[in-house]
Amino acid sequence: MPQPDQPVVAAWGAGTDSTALIIEMVESGQRLDYVLHADTGDERSHTRAFIPVFMDWLRQRGVPCEIVRYQPTRFKNHPPYQSLGENLLTNATLPSITFGRGSTCALKWKVAPQDKWMRGWPPAIAAWSRGAKVTKLIGYSASPRDLKRYADQKDLEDPRYEIRTPLVEWGWTREMCVERIAAAGLPQPKKSSCAFCVAVAPQELHAYTRRELRMIVLIEARARPRLRTVEGLWRTTTKGARGKPARPGRMTDYIRAEGLLPAAEIDDIEANAPLDLIRFRDVAGDIPEALRPTMAQWLAVFASDEEVRGPGERPLYGGREGWTTLISHQAVGVRARSTPIQL
Ligand code: SF4
Repeated sequence: MPQPDQPVVAAWGAGTDSTALIIEMVESGQRLDYVLHADTGDERSHTRAFIPVFMDWLRQRGVPCEIVRYQPTRFKNHPPYQSLGENLLTNATLPSITFGRGSTCALKWKVAPQDKWMRGWPPAIAAWSRGAKVTKLIGYSASPRDLKRYADQKDLEDPRYEIRTPLVEWGWTREMCVERIAAAGLPQPKKSSCAFCVAVAPQELHAYTRRELRMIVLIEARARPRLRTVEGLWRTTTKGARGKPARPGRMTDYIRAEGLLPAAEIDDIEANAPLDLIRFRDVAGDIPEALRPTMAQWLAVFASDEEVRGPGERPLYGGREGWTTLISHQAVGVRARSTPIQL
């Protein structure tokens, strides 16, 4: 149990478990000093819609909450990026979790920004200076999968944090969390993850927006030449043996097979978008960083390709010459980096 002088912060993932945990803490009058949500910039659209709803609910009950983001600073000669997806496109790679190297994508884009925020939070600084810890609430539920995750981590000692998993303490399952959210009169949050996470199930893609599907195709197409150990965002093709569902290693192959995007549009993205991105990067790299066009700007062009042009018609992609002309005429403008374009 936390000591009375330990501040209590909840890491809110905006999914069912952590939302139910926070509701119970608040409505049962347990101490909760702050709620933090780390935004990778690539959450699903339903999660982005739910976040302000729940943050309003918290504020109405006097619980402060904040969205934190990782702030990249070193771009070398690349266009500046502000989200995990833009980071992947810059480096022509996939999230680290796809390669089975643990979730360093989550450590960098979720854990680290919360940690950074905490290091500047006066109650945490005061607690640490008197040798106390900050209690961090994590929304692991009492499901078999989460209990395993909890068992893997529970013995890790951190001099600054005491990790508490109230749902495990209470024995709450996912179903109980759903009931708790309903009892509070709130809408049910849907699964929260980056739209391109390996954890996304094939069926989930059927509810994706066209933008989200196009981003997946783009990320896989951009990374493809450098992939050696995996085929795509789902790692490798599984044939459905030993109880595992069959699925291709590439989400793009599933999107194509299920007709979630027209084949011509997928072909167009694969053939043209990564090349154009490289040319954009080459042109942008010659511009001083303070004025350099951003990845968000290139993605705005990619998105406008979807909105104002049909597949097959050549869009603003203009190759090196086209980008040079566009950038030199400020045709795409220099957008403030603090306003990333949401895809
Ligand atoms: S949701 Fe998946 S891709 Fe996104 S940060 Fe977490 S592990 Fe990485």
